[in-house]
Parts: sequence; structure tokens; C-alpha cells
Amino acid sequence: MTTRVTKQKKQHKQGMLDNVMRQFDNAADIIGLNPNIRKILEVTNNELVVHFPVRMDNGEVEVFTGYRVQHNNALGPYKGGLRYHPTVDIDAARALAMWMTWKTSLAGLPYGGAKGGIQLDPTKYSNSELERITRRFTYALGDNIGPELDIPAPDVNTNAQTMAWILDTYMSTKSPAERSTNMHVVTGKPIGAGGSEGRDRATGYGVFLTIKFWTESKKVDLKDKKFIVQGFGNVGYWAAHFLEKEGAVLIAVQDAYGSITNESGISVEKLFEFSQANKGSILGFSDSHAIDNTDFFGLDCDIIIPAALGNQITAENAQHIKAYLIAEGANGPTDVEAEEILLKKGIDIIPDILCNSGGVIGSYYEWLQNRNGEIWQLEEVMEKLEKKLRESFSKVSEISEDRKVDMRTAAFIIAIERLEKTYVQRGIFP
Ligand code: GLU
Repeated sequence: MTTRVTKQKKQHKQGMLDNVMRQFDNAADIIGLNPNIRKILEVTNNELVVHFPVRMDNGEVEVFTGYRVQHNNALGPYKGGLRYHPTVDIDAARALAMWMTWKTSLAGLPYGGAKGGIQLDPTKYSNSELERITRRFTYALGDNIGPELDIPAPDVNTNAQTMAWILDTYMSTKSPAERSTNMHVVTGKPIGAGGSEGRDRATGYGVFLTIKFWTESKKVDLKDKKFIVQGFGNVGYWAAHFLEKEGAVLIAVQDAYGSITNESGISVEKLFEFSQANKGSILGFSDSHAIDNTDFFGLDCDIIIPAALGNQITAENAQHIKAYLIAEGANGPTDVEAEEILLKKGIDIIPDILCNSGGVIGSYYEWLQNRNGEIWQLEEVMEKLEKKLRESFSKVSEISEDRKVDMRTAAFIIAIERLEKTYVQRGIFP
């Protein structure tokens, strides 16, 4: 096992890192960000890469590579998810960590930004292998995570069960006295293991709410509006669930295995039941027909919710988009070239750092409850979440109107200005 923490040089590369840096540069230029603070924010504070061995079910040993990138902690402990996916590498972790810093800053939370994960395809491993992989990864991370230092949470292909394994492993390495006070080392835990009511649906509910606030501000009725969802995991499912309750109609879904559509509507709950029984896949759902993945984003609909991976909406497919609203459930789903095309076409984008921030806000409530020895009811969590998101949405709309910029630029401006103020007030050590 090797563990290393290094300071990285500024690096521009195609992909998510390039995307987030360009989004940051754009907003930093507009506000004339203090050049010294800009230098700090464009690099990550710490980067940890770990290689660790795990025994597989067949008795052989496999060595995995895990990452944790801590971008910035000027506003509080590092915070952000862990994803299990073949695309996880150092640049992906850097980009996603930066988005977390902007997200927590925009939401007004006392957190910084981090992200990490393991480069693997979880479908290739049994449940007990995934448990051993998660526990050994947690052990390798050691005291680089902690309830007041860096707090992981679920992300792509990780869930409440993953968080429970992390918690249990972390606790097992602590002294008896520390165990009961370390519950908030991870968020997104199962309710029985210190999780919070509502955290499971918080991200998807937040996506739904930001869409609702947008339609309210445009005096559009959500009833009968057609929407499509890319990714039918925790975020995609819950966003669709709440939209359907409000009368909107799901007409197509894409997941890692393919795309399905039914112009007269797909039942969200029936599709969810089907996918649960079908190893998480939507393919083969009876009340629909399969379509080419390349035709998905161009479908005739009102709202698109990308809720899967980064860089999905590109210059290639952006020109075919007919929807008038894109709500980014995923992190970094729209690349910079695609965004230029969409904005020119008059399509609005509710940016990821606002749209999916319900997740980390829900995490904050879980962390607070653990820290204070409290247990909140579901209604209380949902009400607090709605109030917080409404505030964020209003602030973004206000800046967007005042400065005549798109919603992403407005969101970045708010996030960066909060950090700039902190640095100006605190100064630089020594
Ligand atoms: N992975 C989620 C995100 O990208 C949640 C992070 C958290 O709750 O810390 O925002």
C-alpha cells in the first residue's frame, strides 16, 4: 500500500477538469477575482492516491486504486462523495472536488470541497467483494478523513450500505471513547446506522424543487410537461418521482445499458420496480420501446434531466436538443461548448452546483444531527431543505438578472465571492 499526499501543478486537460476550470475562469474574470486568491482556488490542497490489495471470492488478490482529492477547506471541513466507476482517475477527482467547493459555498454551508472514489466497475464484483474493497479503501484513507476534517458521502454507484461499511471500519480503528462521537465521519448512512430521514431523496427532491422554482418564475405549469432522465439511480429516480407527483410526464429514460421511450408516458414507480428486479437496468421494460442512445437528448420534450455522468451533453448532441430547460442532476453533465450552443438557442440550464445541491444540504443536516445528538423527523428535514434551496435559487436568479449572466455564471459568482471574502478577512499564513 502506498499513500501519498502531493500538491499538484495547474493542469488543463480535456474532460471534466477542463470544464470546471473554464467555468471558474469565466466567473473569476467577470468579477475580477483577486489574483492571489485565484492562484489558491485553481489548485487542490491535497491529493491522496492509494493502492490496496483485496482478496476476491475465488481466493486471488486484486490491487485497486483509490483517490481522495481535497480541493479547499477555507469554509469548513472537506465534503463530497466517493464514486465507484471505471472513469474515476486523478483528474476526475480533482474536477469533482472543485465542483463540491463551489456547491457548498453557494449553499452557504460550513464546508469545503472534496471528492474521491475507486476506479472499478462495480457490476463485476460480488456484494462481499465490494464490502471488502470498501473496508480496505477506508483503512487506506486512514485519518485523512474524519468527522471534522473530510466527510465522504454517496455518489455514483455507492449508497447507504457503502457508507455503513465505511463508518464501521473507521470506528473499528478508533479507541472506545472516540467511537460514539465519530458518527458524522460519513453522511448518507442508513437510518439505523446514524443516517437522517430524507437524505435518500434529498438530491432528487432538490432537482425537482429547482425545476419547480424555475417554472414558477417563468409562469409555466409543470402539469403535462414532458421530461426525460439520463440515469435512473438515486438522483434520477427521486427527481422523476416528485415530478410525476406534480403532474409532469416521464417519456424517456437512458441508463448505462440503453435508452427506452414511450411518448404517452412511463410510470416512474413501475419502472423503478422493474429496474430493481432487473439488476438496476431499465432495458426490457414492457411499456416502452428501445431507441438509439444517440437519439435520446434530441427527443421532443420540455425538460431534460441528466443524472448520470459528466460530459454527456456535448457540441454534437446539443444542437439537436428541443427541450427548453436542462436541470443538471449530475455533476458536470454539460460541457462548455455545448453550453454555448444551448444558451444561444435560448435554452436555460439549472447548473449542477445549484440543481443537485439538495444532496449535500441533506448531508449537512445528517452531520448536524449526529454532532448534536439529535434526531429530526422527515417533514422537518424536507422543510429545511426547501427553504435553503429556495434561498439559493433566488440568489442565483437575482445575480443572473443584475449582471445579465446565465445561471451557471451567477452561481459561480456567488460561490467564488464568498470564498474571496473569507480569504481577504483571514489573510494568508504566515
Ligand atoms: N455526491 C453528492 C454530490 O456530488 C453528495 C455529496 C455529499 O453529500 O457530501 O453533491
